Amino acid sequence: MTLLDLLALDFMQRALVAALLTGLAAPAIGTFIVQRRLALLGDGIGHVAVTGVALGLLTGASPTWTAVVVAVLGAVLIELIRERGHTNGDVALALLFYGGLAGGVLITGIAGQGAATLQAYLFGSLTSISGQDVWVTAALTVVVLVATLGLSPQLFAVASDQDFARVAGLRVRGYNLLIAVLAAVSITVAMRTVGLLLVSALMVVPVATSQQLARSFRTTLLGAMLVGCLASAGGLLLSAALSFRASVAPGPTIVLLALAMFTATWPLGAWLRRRSRLMAPFPEVAATPHRSTEHPHAHGDDCGHPAVPHGDHVDYVHDGHRHAVHGEHYDEH
Ligand SMILES: [Zn+2]
Ligand SMILES: [Zn+2]
Ligand SMILES: [Zn+2]
Repeated sequence: MTLLDLLALDFMQRALVAALLTGLAAPAIGTFIVQRRLALLGDGIGHVAVTGVALGLLTGASPTWTAVVVAVLGAVLIELIRERGHTNGDVALALLFYGGLAGGVLITGIAGQGAATLQAYLFGSLTSISGQDVWVTAALTVVVLVATLGLSPQLFAVASDQDFARVAGLRVRGYNLLIAVLAAVSITVAMRTVGLLLVSALMVVPVATSQQLARSFRTTLLGAMLVGCLASAGGLLLSAALSFRASVAPGPTIVLLALAMFTATWPLGAWLRRRSRLMAPFPEVAATPHRSTEHPHAHGDDCGHPAVPHGDHVDYVHDGHRHAVHGEHYDEH
């Protein structure tokens, strides 16, 4: 069977559309999650969402919608636990994640469904994606993309420097909750193709790949979405082709393909980084704290503000101005 024969199949067309939507949505919100250093947030929400799927199987409601509701509630709960402090937060999150997974498996059994039904949601499934699923997936993808691309300056500010965002007057708590909710929505989007247990990889690996080559935040975001689409569509077709010989779920194939793309770009990224260091006409500027109380922030290599070479020094674009280290203070340029 050739690629064209494969694409002529109805369920393959549905799966491919769902995969492309997944490849756009998961890395889009994933870029902000990586920026916030919360790479495992998606994994936690995915575990909680298993209970949502099981509730759908038990009540006869659409598992996609019950998963959306439970994943969003779980994401808000996770964000509130994180916000309350670090002492017992780790343990509370672990309890929530294990409870979500164990509860989901248990309820699925009570609903009279076997592990095979749940497996389609845990690792993705080519054949189980209905036409209605595709429409729901498309609607949720639009929500995620409009929010992440439309609010990207605010989300970026909050994700890269919470203290600065607070000083600048942004509602940090609201945006943190929004990031968590959007993560929950894109996890539900990815549920049918990549599966709940592997979706976090599609939020993180394309971003890491894009970061190898991209220099600005915006190109990282767009590059991650491109890599996500290539990995999810390519992985899906590969798993379909392999399925003629053995049972191959799309989720693991998509994730392994994304990891292969990361591995392939890593040497190129290392070379680019070394070259840009060699070509820098001035020494790297060490991070110096601002003297002014209006900017309690030290600009440096990885502070998240775009760096602009300017004469013999580096300016950082910050709150609409360009700031540069001059001796012990920052000047506006
Ligand atoms: Zn900075
Ligand atoms: Zn300057
Ligand atoms: Zn500044």
